[in-house]
Amino acid sequence: MTTTTPKPSFALITLILPGPDRKRQPSPYHFRVTYRNPEPTGPGCLMTWDVLVGREPYQVALERTADGRTEWHCTCADAVYHGENNHAHRCKHVQGLRELFPRAA
Ligand SMILES: [Zn+2]
Repeated sequence: MTTTTPKPSFALITLILPGPDRKRQPSPYHFRVTYRNPEPTGPGCLMTWDVLVGREPYQVALERTADGRTEWHCTCADAVYHGENNHAHRCKHVQGLRELFPRAA
């Protein structure tokens, strides 16, 4: 049996973000790419990530709308709350990824 070493790529990204505890201690968040559109110029889902932290992973998605804008989605409580209230606020998961992919933002 052979073991293969994963190619170094953006497949798994670790970001240090304010943690989930009250003190918001910086904590490592692991973002694993779960989908990448091979033709990222048209409308539709461009990329998705699983955010691995704590017990439940979050899903983050980057979508291109029909009129060419990009929209971020996250399943965490923070993003859902502000999304329902139409706030411009972005959760820390999306903010972290936006800094990595400034052209997509
Ligand atoms: Zn989030």
